[in-house]
Amino acid sequence: MMNFGLTDEQKQLQEMARKFTKDEIIPKAAHYDATGEYPWPVIKKAWELGLLNTHVPTEYGGPGLGLLDVCIVTEELAFGCSGITTAMEGNGLASAPLIVAGSEEVKKEFLGRLTASPVMAAYCVTEPGAGSDVAGIRTQAKKVGSDYVINGSKMWITNASVANWYFVLAYTDPTQKHKGMSGFVVPADTPGILVGKKEKNMGQRASDTRGITFENVKVPEKYRLGKEGDGFKIAMTAFDHTRPFVAAGAVGVARRAMEESMQYAVNRKTFGVPIAQHQAVSFMIADMAKDIEAARLLVHKCAWMLDSGERNTQYAAYAKAFAADMAMQVTTNAVQIFGGYGYSEEYPVEKLMRDAKIYQIYEGTSQIQRMIIAREVLGKLM
Ligand SMILES: Cc1cc2nc3c(=O)[nH]c(=O)nc-3n(C[C@H](O)[C@H](O)[C@H](O)COP(=O)(O)OP(=O)(O)OC[C@H]3O[C@@H](n4cnc5c(N)ncnc54)[C@H](O)[C@@H]3O)c2cc1C
Repeated sequence: MMNFGLTDEQKQLQEMARKFTKDEIIPKAAHYDATGEYPWPVIKKAWELGLLNTHVPTEYGGPGLGLLDVCIVTEELAFGCSGITTAMEGNGLASAPLIVAGSEEVKKEFLGRLTASPVMAAYCVTEPGAGSDVAGIRTQAKKVGSDYVINGSKMWITNASVANWYFVLAYTDPTQKHKGMSGFVVPADTPGILVGKKEKNMGQRASDTRGITFENVKVPEKYRLGKEGDGFKIAMTAFDHTRPFVAAGAVGVARRAMEESMQYAVNRKTFGVPIAQHQAVSFMIADMAKDIEAARLLVHKCAWMLDSGERNTQYAAYAKAFAADMAMQVTTNAVQIFGGYGYSEEYPVEKLMRDAKIYQIYEGTSQIQRMIIAREVLGKLM
């Protein structure tokens, strides 16, 4: 029998995340957006409650939640502030390659660090000259004895300055393109790592995004994930684990925009009636409600597929593309419903619109998601 409902445990988890968001995130979201400070106090509280590193298996000290559970939590957190949520999710993104391909020793050490104390991690793939086209990266890891020596520059790295360790993708054999890359875990205190200044981004300003340069950074062979040449596959497979919760974040942002819009639309009057009574406004809200529901169903389905041991690449791309585009549309319409007030920092919807945009860019742009979908649906015919 099919069942779209949440279990009692999932409802409790959702309630806990909702309460945390209400008490700890919503009151501080505007402050972190305005100052760009890293939200350490919020993150430390989340860690204490088990709302950080929700994906880490129990063997390594984590709560070991399924991906659907992680998505339920993420939607709630992003309802409060998607910048803070992205900072928290940075750990999920960085540890996904370890969960996919790390040795027992690497998982114990580095996933264990995340659960032993409130520390962060970062996923370092993008470079100044290569984002969507990952094969265009130039970072290299050269084997020297039983070590690798990494040289290169990464760009747009979430949690760059606060990370305790990095996942780094580099070429071990540049002649082999996708099959010449390897993935490494690099402790942040290794000599030769230079972290750049914080980028001034349009939205999600609580999250820390910077460039990082690796200059003769030496890591032991045991910190390589999988075999030499597995790096691209590992870095991409990690997205099957992360795109569902990134999409869940977009759903959270959109749900917040809809709730703010509804409150405003029933109170603001024009031509003698609340604007919610004008069909043009109520239809925008109706579209928000149906599109948020559709996006959430896609999120839950692709997460459920991974939890059930099924390959979810195609469905994760559906969810990521649909939820990101939907969040952009919903938050843009929320600003429209607020009229001039929507354009002001005094009201919450302009932040939501700024925050929503990045969902169409990071973790594979909306165009890249469509490339994945097209390859999956057309691939068998061509
Ligand atoms: C706030 C923020 C946080 C980030 N965090 C991280 C992180 O933690 N770790 C990390 O590794 N990276 C991170 N990124 C990088 C992000 O993943 C890349 O910006 C993204 O993948 C796009 O790459 P790009 O910026 O190089 O754009 P490009 O790849 O240069 O793309 C530019 C435009 O061209 C389009 N395009 C490119 N190729 C095609 C194609 N074949 N067909 C159609 N359209 C195409 C793209 O969709 C886009 O619209 C972050 C970025 C930001 C802004």
